[in-house]
Amino acid sequence: MAVMIAQRRAAAATAAAPKRGARLVARVAQPLAQPGSSGMQTAADASMLARAGLPPTTTPFDDFQFANIREAEVSRAMTRRYFKDLDDFAESDVVIVGAGSAGLACAYELGKVAPHLKVALMEQSVAPGGGAWLGGQLFSAMVVRKPAHLMLDELEVPYEDEGHYVVVRHAALLTSTLMSKVLKNPNVKLFNAVAVEDLIVKPDALSGGRRVAGVVTNWSLVAQAHGTQSCMDPNVIEAGVVVSACGHDGPFGATSVKRLARLGMVPGGEVPGMGALDMEAAEGAIVGGTREVVPGMVLAGMELAEVDGSPRMGPTFGAMIVSGRRAAHVALAVLEKRKKMAAKAAADGAEATAAAAAL
Ligand SMILES: Cc1cc2nc3c(=O)[nH]c(=O)nc-3n(C[C@H](O)[C@H](O)[C@H](O)COP(=O)(O)OP(=O)(O)OC[C@H]3O[C@@H](n4cnc5c(N)ncnc54)[C@H](O)[C@@H]3O)c2cc1C
Repeated sequence: MAVMIAQRRAAAATAAAPKRGARLVARVAQPLAQPGSSGMQTAADASMLARAGLPPTTTPFDDFQFANIREAEVSRAMTRRYFKDLDDFAESDVVIVGAGSAGLACAYELGKVAPHLKVALMEQSVAPGGGAWLGGQLFSAMVVRKPAHLMLDELEVPYEDEGHYVVVRHAALLTSTLMSKVLKNPNVKLFNAVAVEDLIVKPDALSGGRRVAGVVTNWSLVAQAHGTQSCMDPNVIEAGVVVSACGHDGPFGATSVKRLARLGMVPGGEVPGMGALDMEAAEGAIVGGTREVVPGMVLAGMELAEVDGSPRMGPTFGAMIVSGRRAAHVALAVLEKRKKMAAKAAADGAEATAAAAAL
């Protein structure tokens, strides 16, 4: 009996004593402000301030109250819009592959000169912006050679003028400003975390050859996991013209030119890869080379250096900006050309050709 009493007392003592973790929680939790109190103020702070004759700390959010919401509303608000976008953009005027500096500059220019066009901007990463969040290595400043800086003036991005070039204090300032401008256009849809895995290629009734007619897409996570699944079919977007700005070669980079090469569609047959660094020559080569490389596909930015073998330039971004902007005008010219050729074919009585060209 004495043993049982001793055991019960020991158990009661153990139950009464706060557990080690609980004591820790109590110590940490105690000084935190209670809901409804001033966000920065604990009870101890309040009494200390009162003793010192000081007013309590307040913030503009002390009485903040959220409107009610149901979880299903949140889900529907997102999914309804996304699936409508998938429906709307299944046939786009322009698909831009890659939302790095060149792709974003292209979308910006299209929004400026042809805001009515439906533009699907495909980005395999969750975060658009490509290599333009930083300058070289992990440095912050972004160098833009004049006169590419004129877009910075349009965007009202401040910079330090160094005479023949300008420096944006942090690359992220330009990239985020450009991105916000692009995304405000309701006719541009950014599909991020979506990879372009392949191209739609069709016989080209007008040229008699083949043309790029859109892109094959997949969630990036699925694209990265193809080796682990037996069947993960992709989605597709048809386009009047595709602008590819996938950047230099890498796990996802230069996707379009590598695919064109495997399809035997690259003029010259192979993708030599970018040449050695020469800043002076590289930027002009990228801007000058921005073109429709095969019917239906315009190349911009560093992806172009992969197919042309032109020099890499390192961390100077003027060429990406101007190449992207130029690509927008080349894309518009491609759309216009196809429209005119289709109209001519129709006038000549070649209905089937006209119908194919109009797609
Ligand atoms: C660390 C670093 C290294 C650099 N190295 C070089 C260099 O070697 N040579 C050089 O000239 N400049 C280099 N630069 C400068 C600069 O990054 C590039 O010149 C510039 O980023 C290229 O711009 P871009 O728009 O052509 O491509 P990127 O900025 O690379 O943008 C391409 C975008 O396309 C996306 N993408 C790629 N494939 C797919 C796909 N299949 N589907 C959907 N999206 C896709 C990428 O995620 C990326 O967002 C470097 C910069 C940094 C910060």
